[in-house]
Amino acid sequence: MNDILPAEAAPWRTLQTAVTEVFAAYGYQQIRLPVVERTELFARSIGEVTDIVEKEMYSFEDRGGESLSLRPEGTAGCVRAAIQHGLLHNQVQRLWYSGPMFRYERPQKGRYRQFYQFGAEAFGLEGPDIDAELIMMSARLWRRLGLKGIRLQLNSLGTPESRQAYRQVLVDYFRQHADVLDEDSKRRLDGNPMRILDSKNPDLAGLIENAPNILDHLDDASKIHFDAVCAQLTAAGIKYSVNPRVVRGLDYYSRTVFEWTTDQLGAQDAVCSGGRYDGLVEQLGGKPTPAIGFAMGVERLIALMELQECRVLADGPQIYLVRVGENADSYSAVLAEQLRDALPDLRLLVHAGGGSFKSQMKRADKSGAEFALIIGDDEVVNDQVQLKALRGTGGQVAVPRAELVSGLAQRLDLQPPVQG
Ligand code: ATP
Ligand code: MG
Repeated sequence: MNDILPAEAAPWRTLQTAVTEVFAAYGYQQIRLPVVERTELFARSIGEVTDIVEKEMYSFEDRGGESLSLRPEGTAGCVRAAIQHGLLHNQVQRLWYSGPMFRYERPQKGRYRQFYQFGAEAFGLEGPDIDAELIMMSARLWRRLGLKGIRLQLNSLGTPESRQAYRQVLVDYFRQHADVLDEDSKRRLDGNPMRILDSKNPDLAGLIENAPNILDHLDDASKIHFDAVCAQLTAAGIKYSVNPRVVRGLDYYSRTVFEWTTDQLGAQDAVCSGGRYDGLVEQLGGKPTPAIGFAMGVERLIALMELQECRVLADGPQIYLVRVGENADSYSAVLAEQLRDALPDLRLLVHAGGGSFKSQMKRADKSGAEFALIIGDDEVVNDQVQLKALRGTGGQVAVPRAELVSGLAQRLDLQPPVQG
């Protein structure tokens, strides 16, 4: 579980801002969900024989003897909340959430025990357009962030019935080759054989490559649905590859599943994954409601933003106010508040704690600010300030107090506040 330090704040805020705006551009509304749910909710939705429920959950008994778990993902809680608050009664809902998720995994690069996700879920729509919409929305986010080389892999898992039939074909196939399977796969053969397709063991690559293809075992309606999703993505100019080995580790998926992956982050290559889960709402006690969603891994996206040197929103101070002298101290305190009133986007750090001019200038330089705004007792008498450029070759100029707001607005490209 990581501390996210101030040095990492800028990319985080950039991602958060982009997500908020892009999701809003598609009419998705935010839902804020608790971090803790009943353990049973995850067992029933994600599935008893999944990695998450079998060995990754942080579960504990509360003082009332009830088994609770830190959420390992957001969909289950979102469905629970939507049912509980009647959000799904004859209504379409487009929702998004964000926050920390918890999984007891082996920590490594791109894989943590507390990690963050942004997720989106759409309820009440069974047609392929919503599958395409969610994918286009994520593609727009990559473009907006300036991320390159994130590739879309698509698959369809069919209906529970067609999946059941395929599962049997798959079990028969792997049984015939039981001698080559590793321990993990042998264990999965009974509980969750499709997970074998997801194995990262290179010794199994050939066997998996030749395994029966789920797309050859789809029911007709799922086939039509999948073809329509593909056609809509093509029409939208979104490149994808169909990959029958994208099976997702959770039980609740049906029909369309997808992963956005990168080859720039090593083994932890999925940055966003999702799919349809048409049966889950009913399974958790709601009326039958088609649904689809995805979740993206914030740490992996940020690692990619850093690697690709994407532009991030600045958030350190732009101005460091240096003040020397008793009159300068009180003058500055008033001035700083007036500047913040006049320029709400200005990031102004007022030096505190005294010290010589020289030591304050050192701090100003270290702060990363673009300008030092210098005020001594002389400046107070003359009602003007010194503005010294800390980067580049701006030099130092005296600016009359009356011209300071417009001068800063112009130099820092800031908007004055909207009146009224
Ligand atoms: P993986 O195959 O990498 O284990 P997953 O299929 O378990 O991923 P999901 O449950 O679909 O992942 O979660 C959605 C996204 O959340 C993933 O695509 C990934 O970016 C991110 N993610 C999942 N687990 C972790 C983790 N332990 N640490 C950091 N990010 C994670
Ligand atoms: Mg996982």
